[in-house]
Amino acid sequence: MSRSHISSDEFRRHGYELVDWVADYMERVGSLPVQARVAPGDIRAMLPPAAPEDPEPFEALVRDLDSVVLPGITHWQSPGWFAYFPANVSAPSVLAELVAAALGAQGMLWSTSPALTEVESHVLDWLVDLLGLPERWKTAVGPGGGVIQSSASDATHLAHVVARELAKERGASSEHAVAYASSQAHSSIEKGARVAAIRHLRPIDVDENYALRPRALDEAILRDLEQGLAPAIVTSTVGTTGTCAVDPVGEVAAIAERHGLWHHVDAAYAGSAFICPELRVEQDGIARVDSFVFNAHKWMFTNFDCSVFWVADRAPLNRAMSVLPPYLRNAASESGEVIDYRDWQLPLGRRFRALKLWWVLRSYGASGIRDLIREHVRLARWLGERVDEHPSLARVAPVAFGLVCFRHVDGDDATDALAEQINRDGSVYVIPSTVDELRFIRVAVGATPTTAADVERLWSIVSRTL
Ligand code: PLP
Repeated sequence: MSRSHISSDEFRRHGYELVDWVADYMERVGSLPVQARVAPGDIRAMLPPAAPEDPEPFEALVRDLDSVVLPGITHWQSPGWFAYFPANVSAPSVLAELVAAALGAQGMLWSTSPALTEVESHVLDWLVDLLGLPERWKTAVGPGGGVIQSSASDATHLAHVVARELAKERGASSEHAVAYASSQAHSSIEKGARVAAIRHLRPIDVDENYALRPRALDEAILRDLEQGLAPAIVTSTVGTTGTCAVDPVGEVAAIAERHGLWHHVDAAYAGSAFICPELRVEQDGIARVDSFVFNAHKWMFTNFDCSVFWVADRAPLNRAMSVLPPYLRNAASESGEVIDYRDWQLPLGRRFRALKLWWVLRSYGASGIRDLIREHVRLARWLGERVDEHPSLARVAPVAFGLVCFRHVDGDDATDALAEQINRDGSVYVIPSTVDELRFIRVAVGATPTTAADVERLWSIVSRTL
């Protein structure tokens, strides 16, 4: 800090104060209303019209965390967070982010900071074992490998780009390339295909559990082939956003292999649960796919952004992503002995995201992560049983991983009214959703501090509202 306007001593003092603020926040987050209750423009109205010309004391910056920032924060780290999917964090992850920020290193090439690359490759190889994934996805084994992306959307976009390039190598234009995914797939598939300039996306029918129907996929591919199109990629979802449905990955793999499609798996939320062997699903099928993404930033206690993307063979990804200007040439890259992650992603620069994942895995140990995930799943199942026992409620899908989906038997309006009442309490937050025009409430159990008491509180709010 010697060239900074803040001395080392001041930095240390403010740092201690700030860590105190963060620790206090983590302690009191459960007592704050989960949802931000501000109107559009409220936060902006508290900011001065122009940037300060003169330096402000650091104390003023910290003060505004309470007065300006917190009122506009929806508390994803609240123990009463049951909305969307979790985006959970943990102490080791938060502290690792501080270190990564201070190092400020860029890991686009191995040579621009070898530790960034080697920790990332190694920790993702650990995860292959921890999640029960194929050995050849390890960079140390090959031909596959893992890389951290910002988001599952980025990984899915990349998978579509690679599939398009492979289709081109086979002589098909991107105009003819076709992407497939179930009608329940996340919107990132549509966006990824569109941004990859794949013009045709076929939403495939699902069964009564909202899982892709393989026969419908096969028929769609055959129809497209008859039309002279070029089926390029299919995405299977393990844990759909709506109801956490699991596509039959093995059956989709057989179809993808028969027709030569790239097969991508989106396990953005549910992938973390694979750390518990009893929660692994479709493992044999997953061993046959071309790429797989899961978000450690959803349910593995690692701050956003940390989306882990594996490819079964890294060569097509590297071919699609590699552009080598003279200023990036270096002896280590040319030796062929190192990984340069710039060839595994769209941006050139990349920060040290692996540090937080490494710290989370070491600080909790795999057993600590398993315990937390198992507890979340146990609590979701408990809530599912309460729902099943109540005459005014009906589950709309099996309880899957940490997700419970239910509706009011009196219909959509009653379901919306119930969600509104639940959220009005302020100590918990759920969101209603719609699948096949069926309105229901999603409860995703998975925030780091959520315990049995929080799920019981949610249930008592639900049951006294009914
Ligand atoms: N895929 C699924 C199944 C999801 O549920 C989500 C987000 O909830 C995503 C992809 C998108 O994740 P990200 O925000 O990392 O792009």
